[in-house]
Amino acid sequence: MSDDCIFCSIVAGDIPARTVHETDDVFAFLDANPLAPGHTLVIPKVHAQHVGDLDADLASDLFAAVTELTPRVQDAVDADAANVGINDGEAAGQEVPHVHVHVIPRFDDDGGAPIHAVGGERPDLSDEELDAIAADIAG
Ligand code: AMP
Ligand code: ZN
Repeated sequence: MSDDCIFCSIVAGDIPARTVHETDDVFAFLDANPLAPGHTLVIPKVHAQHVGDLDADLASDLFAAVTELTPRVQDAVDADAANVGINDGEAAGQEVPHVHVHVIPRFDDDGGAPIHAVGGERPDLSDEELDAIAADIAG
């Protein structure tokens, strides 16, 4: 638990939340400022800021909860689809520094955008640049 982390305080029961799912390692609750009805946050119980900080078992448990909850969230609000995503780091829009997966129900013609809309201006990359980036990621 991290002092003054709002999501750690929710896990500890010190701040109220509308809990929708809980296991030994994972917790899920409704977003307090939802982008759509049913907007749910799925988090690891232990404090970690970035996805890269999660060990493989915990990442697996977290994603298992996401896959289980996404259709349940959609069913609960009669959604047509959902966006599932993580703001990982401040530049990506992360405001709460505790890993959380957003499950955002989507509806036909709801006026929202696909996840592609989160990027900035599209870069114009040459084949050589793409090859170099792929090689760096592959390691
Ligand atoms: P992010 O910008 O990805 O860090 O998203 C943080 C999310 O946490 C936002 O969608 C907020 O509405 C939500 N949030 C902040 N405080 C609370 C809270 N006490 N209970 C539920 N959701 C919260
Ligand atoms: Zn925390």
